[in-house]
Amino acid sequence: MARSSGKGRPRPLGAAHASPVEALLVSEGFDADVHPNEPMARHTAYRIGGPARFLVNAHSLGALMQLVALCRSEGVPWVVVGRGSNLLVADEGYPGVVITLGRDFRNLRLDRASGWCVAGGGALLATAVQEAFRAGCAGLEFAVGTPGTIGGALRMNAGTREVGIGSRVASVTVLGPDGALTRRLGDEVSWGYRRSSFSPDEAIVECELALEPGDALAIQRTMESALARRKRTQPLGQPSCGSVFRNPEGASVGALVEELGLKGARHGGAQVSEVHGNFIVNAGGAAARDVRALIDLVQTKVLEAYGIKLATEVRFLGFEA
Ligand SMILES: Cc1cc2nc3c(=O)[nH]c(=O)nc-3n(C[C@H](O)[C@H](O)[C@H](O)COP(=O)(O)OP(=O)(O)OC[C@H]3O[C@@H](n4cnc5c(N)ncnc54)[C@H](O)[C@@H]3O)c2cc1C
Repeated sequence: MARSSGKGRPRPLGAAHASPVEALLVSEGFDADVHPNEPMARHTAYRIGGPARFLVNAHSLGALMQLVALCRSEGVPWVVVGRGSNLLVADEGYPGVVITLGRDFRNLRLDRASGWCVAGGGALLATAVQEAFRAGCAGLEFAVGTPGTIGGALRMNAGTREVGIGSRVASVTVLGPDGALTRRLGDEVSWGYRRSSFSPDEAIVECELALEPGDALAIQRTMESALARRKRTQPLGQPSCGSVFRNPEGASVGALVEELGLKGARHGGAQVSEVHGNFIVNAGGAAARDVRALIDLVQTKVLEAYGIKLATEVRFLGFEA
């Protein structure tokens, strides 16, 4: 049963029997929406994933800080996620608290003259891309068509093979494991190809992006050609997580998979895309174990044929290791 932060909400648990975390989740002033036993399939681009013990959409910094502090002191596993665009959640689900960033984290302000953009961790990357375009600010064109939130984008250093969002980060504010908020400059974070140096127990709550005044027509052309390329080369009509593997140095996973004749390979409802060999799609009713089986298959075949150990780009939640 979903519980909203509005008045007169149902109180699903008797506080006398609840754990401290459950007691917080049902407490009157807790500024969040709480969903017990929430199927994560509703919150992932894959449309796959068993239930989270709790999914909590925290609306304010206070609620986020309270929840994380209590989870830590009680030893309850927790994780902050964005739109689940890069997540494979186990069929068994996640035995802890999945946190998403709500109301107060969705703000986005852009100063046209300076190109300075302040965005909450829960704001959509697509909103930042569109706002920048409307304001005639260049620097985010590469991210057009990339689903997810600002927090998820920073954590993944989302982008293309050549450029990631980290190159535009002037500063980032994180809620750290000690419960303190820390503001780091962009160059104090290490950014790599689809990776960053944030630790798993840091929540990205806000960032400043440094964009620059640009030519609106040029921005539009770049974005249109990037979108057209996506439509041509990616299976956008089927649920996926984007690229499953990181491209190894000097090679393209899509090409390797194609050379090995693995395009179209199926396991249950999952399929190596016929369109792009680095996409594994949910072709209908796929379970996480089906996707895992295809990931293992591709890794094994590529290792056998080329001696290359493929690293995954997709993030796993609720799996053993
Ligand atoms: C069709 C499609 C196309 C895609 N194309 C691209 C592409 O071109 N380039 C690219 O880089 N990616 C691409 N992706 C992958 C995905 O969009 C990106 O990785 C995106 O940045 C993930 O954002 P998210 O908010 O959905 O994060 P999630 O998938 O929810 O989470 C990803 C990781 O970030 C962590 N995280 C999320 N939010 C926070 C936060 N606030 N604080 C701390 N940690 C956090 C999560 O715990 C998880 O480890 C694509 C995905 C799809 C489905």
